[in-house]
Amino acid sequence: MKATIAMLPGDGIGPEVTAAVQAVLKVVARGWQHTFNCNEYPIGGCAMDACGEPLPATTLNACLRADAVFLGAVGGPKWSDPRAAVRPEQGLLKLRSGLGVYANLRPLRIHPRLASLSPLRPERLVGVDILFVRELTGGAYFGAKTRTEDFATDECRYSVEEIERLMRRAFALARGRRGKVTSVDKANVLETSRLWRETAERVATEFPEVTLEHQLVDSMAMLLLTHPQDYDVVATENLFGDILSDEAAALAGSLGVLPSASLGDGRCGLYEPIHGSAPDIAGKGWANPLGALFSAALLLRHSLGLEAEAQAIEAALDEVISRGLLTRDLGGQASTREVTDALLHTLEMGLESHKAVDRGHSGC
Ligand code: NAD
Repeated sequence: MKATIAMLPGDGIGPEVTAAVQAVLKVVARGWQHTFNCNEYPIGGCAMDACGEPLPATTLNACLRADAVFLGAVGGPKWSDPRAAVRPEQGLLKLRSGLGVYANLRPLRIHPRLASLSPLRPERLVGVDILFVRELTGGAYFGAKTRTEDFATDECRYSVEEIERLMRRAFALARGRRGKVTSVDKANVLETSRLWRETAERVATEFPEVTLEHQLVDSMAMLLLTHPQDYDVVATENLFGDILSDEAAALAGSLGVLPSASLGDGRCGLYEPIHGSAPDIAGKGWANPLGALFSAALLLRHSLGLEAEAQAIEAALDEVISRGLLTRDLGGQASTREVTDALLHTLEMGLESHKAVDRGHSGC
């Protein structure tokens, strides 16, 4: 297949983990005979320095023309003055709204080799495989805001249409997994949550093979720590999803290993590791590339429909982790380059053995 992928390395360790993704995409293209046109564009602080704005029009237009967008990370101390009118993060928000991505997917699986790094006892983490589906463009983050010296409001608003499209995405994803959606709300107190729950119930009738359950957000915060194995797809609104998915990310032991995908109605999605630009380790070669590389697998799966290639990357990453080749955030000593090279080697070996099996079959 031919695909155009806009690469936005951004700031801090963003370019370091993006280089790892470029390298793996090259191996996938060569191994499966695809053509990926990967061009880099500025975003965030480096774009403010180069072009005076965090999301230059050339970057946005390239993303709008692309089949998928990969982002490293944006931000850093150089651009973090809270009084500044323009900040790197505005580039990311503008990009999300320009691409119309409203569903933020954050998968959480904990590799057994990393379970000891989690604040939970390892036996609590056996079999944990959760997919958070967070609404990304509505709720209190985008409602009207007011402020006087001693009073402030943030309006939380949701329309049926916004809830329906998010829930349909969650149910469709659950159908391909273990068939359960947990919808999280605060329906005992909030009107938006009552609308959320009613809408979830209605959408559930379109997916009879998927089970729907409801949890209040305060219970869910506890259950994620006491019974994380019980959850498959967790669907929730913007603010609750932001908090719960970060709480769950702590279970993985490091921000450096977790990927994300932001999807809309079209094919093009935005893929990024959940971590930030990690200015404390930028330029040292210590950045953990796993979150970025798992995000590349999501990109191949969700925007390009290349499931076998996505699974091959995930299996190779699992193998590299099993071998204990880990960066410092995971208690190892390996550099970004060493982890990436090990992944590329494992992927190439896997490809060679598949070809050998194919040759064997064609000879029969
Ligand atoms: P951060 O995720 O950058 O770093 C938090 C801690 O985790 C640091 O100690 C860092 O070294 C470590 N860490 C993060 N990713 C790592 C990786 N891949 N490998 C090894 N260690 C890793 O969060 P922060 O320090 O709160 O924010 C730093 C900057 O990043 C800020 O400017 C913030 O606004 C920005 N940020 C950007 C995004 C994004 O681009 N999506 C997300 C979060 C924060």
